[in-house]
Amino acid sequence: MDDVAASQEASLPPGLAPGTGKTFYIETFGCQMNVHDSEKVAGVLLTRGYRPVESHEEAELVLYNTCSIREKAAQKVFSRLGALRKGYRGSSKIVGVLGCVAQQEGEEIFERAPQVGLVCGSASYPRIAELIDKLEQGQRRVTGLELETEDCFETELTRRDNPFRAYLTIIEGCDKECSYCVVPMTRGPERSRPSGRVLEEVKRLAGEGYSEIQLLGQTVNSYRDPSPARLSFAELLVRVAETRGVRRVRFTTSHPLDFGPEIVQAIESHPAICNQIHLPVQCGSNRILAAMRRTYTREEYLEKIDCIRSSKRNISVSTDIIVGFCGETEEDFAQTLDLIERVGYSQMFSFKYSVRPKTAAGGWVDSVPEEEKSRRLTLLQERQRQIQLAAHQDLIGREFEVLVEAFHPKLGQSAGRTTCNRTINFAGRPEWTGSYLKVRVTAAGPNSLVGEREDGNFQPLEPASNAPGEDCHGS
Ligand code: SAM
Ligand code: SF4
Repeated sequence: MDDVAASQEASLPPGLAPGTGKTFYIETFGCQMNVHDSEKVAGVLLTRGYRPVESHEEAELVLYNTCSIREKAAQKVFSRLGALRKGYRGSSKIVGVLGCVAQQEGEEIFERAPQVGLVCGSASYPRIAELIDKLEQGQRRVTGLELETEDCFETELTRRDNPFRAYLTIIEGCDKECSYCVVPMTRGPERSRPSGRVLEEVKRLAGEGYSEIQLLGQTVNSYRDPSPARLSFAELLVRVAETRGVRRVRFTTSHPLDFGPEIVQAIESHPAICNQIHLPVQCGSNRILAAMRRTYTREEYLEKIDCIRSSKRNISVSTDIIVGFCGETEEDFAQTLDLIERVGYSQMFSFKYSVRPKTAAGGWVDSVPEEEKSRRLTLLQERQRQIQLAAHQDLIGREFEVLVEAFHPKLGQSAGRTTCNRTINFAGRPEWTGSYLKVRVTAAGPNSLVGEREDGNFQPLEPASNAPGEDCHGS
């Protein structure tokens, strides 16, 4: 959520002056896909004349876009609703619950939180305008809970919250059946957007000044072009990178099953495709991978890593890991520790296994006690911290091109991101934000780097098409 930097009103479309219509406020929980879904829902509201406000107190329509991937995430929304219930008894404010909790809890949300008027899962977002119509016409409770759909959520307008980087969902839903995961049940079956529509949107975004495009999907590399062009995911990546004005392309999340050498070749073929792959492994033990129904073995996963490592580009690999899954022994966990050592991930998102209702594993014994999960998580994170610190120390003295994403006035620092998705903080200026600058690394921490601009004379680089990547510098 660090991306949500720009003022909401900054991206109002022409003809929609602030001050018209009703007010809305959206709070988003969870992943980048949720953040982007909220941007699209906000776009729908803006085209209907709604105006964004900065807090739920001011808003006539309050929407919570929710996440239920782990129990704690799901609980958050109910605590928000509990707080609202006290404050707004009898008010005309409309409250809506969107996303994964909406899909999973359905109409029960109305029982738990009577002030809620709208419950809508992401597979029903194509109907969100119609649902809002019904609310405006005075209907007290409306739902969008159908899951079987072939539609993607297309909007006339998307209110993007970051002025330089645009998220773009190319595939919705998930057809994998990981035993621990709610996503196939909360987001529905896989649906890919036609490549022509994706490329049109990229062209428009580049024209509007977005120089970094991030392609999104729960399993982004399972993309199947439904149009006659039948572009593969790797071909689509290259076509996005070739778009004039696009300087960086990222994509997340890749599923190991559908990951092949053609993606590495695509990265090698075009400098605008970033040196970064997010390839969640979840666990290092074959026994547990099988129980998780991840569809690959440790050895198969490591072959994919070898393919990435043999690239002439220096590609960073990040991952997700779950510790304490049903039946995970100390030996299974030791294999996870061994795997992170072997791969040398640039970043890791790690979680304690959380039992989720209606999943296959939800019916199994959650055998690892909570304290043991915490112990394993701490050990894993400490090891990863050391791996990252050592990798970052090796970068001291090297120069990287960064996209400057933020300026922190209190520190007088700009923060930029390398092609490998590493953050470098350096003495900066507010007007540098949005530019591509060369920065030399002077110090390293486990999570970020410190650097300095080589040349103090600021020369903003145009977000021109297809600037060279950083292969020559490594990282
Ligand atoms: N589609 C992506 C993939 O296959 O790797 C993952 C999407 S999921 C939104 C993000 C991460 O949440 C997963 O990679 C997994 O590590 C974690 N996760 C999912 N279900 C979980 C659960 N029940 N308990 C703990 N972590 C979970
Ligand atoms: Fe969940 Fe597995 Fe689909 Fe990822 S691939 S969203 S972990 S079911």
